[in-house]
Amino acid sequence: MKTQAAVKPYFAHPQALVESEDIGPGTRIWAFAHVMPGARIGAECNIGDHTFIETGAVLGNNVTVKNGVAIWWGVTVEDGVFLGPNCVLTNDPNPRAYIKKPSPALRATLIRAHATVGANATILCGITIGQYAFIGAGSVVLRTVLDFALMVGNPARRVGWMCRCARRLLIPASASLNSSTMCPQCRAEFRVDAGGLNMINGSSS
Ligand SMILES: [Zn+2]
Repeated sequence: MKTQAAVKPYFAHPQALVESEDIGPGTRIWAFAHVMPGARIGAECNIGDHTFIETGAVLGNNVTVKNGVAIWWGVTVEDGVFLGPNCVLTNDPNPRAYIKKPSPALRATLIRAHATVGANATILCGITIGQYAFIGAGSVVLRTVLDFALMVGNPARRVGWMCRCARRLLIPASASLNSSTMCPQCRAEFRVDAGGLNMINGSSS
């Protein structure tokens, strides 16, 4: 008897291995990607070739995952994040091949909305990458990153601040409290507070 396959709301390349049922509409999953059972992927995401999304990984909407990225259990990627090609995420702070750990012994990592992780950057586990933060290509990020921070190097350090429009802001990394600046490109305004950089007018895009 011929059964009618349910029409899926997302696209998966015939050579992708998609085992999760939790994938939002409009998402595209390309060749040789592997999405494990229980992995959650939101709507309108773009999942490149040779990616791996493990059970327990969570992706929001409009996430771009470039080719060659593995997203492990405990990694949460919020809306609008860009994960550059071959960037590395982790979930075990002290791995040994011969020590088996249950999932709760691993460490969760949060990549907050609209952050960018550059090509080949490495993100250690148990940290948060702030909203709109910008991780330079090849950086090795060991600690939590503030919103809008521009991070480069190994170990990554903050060298400045990045606007949501992807233009570097004209304010030094070490700007003092209450310093303010305006993006020369999109005119968004920012002020330094105790938690880092804050966008104080969010009306313009
Ligand atoms: Zn801007």
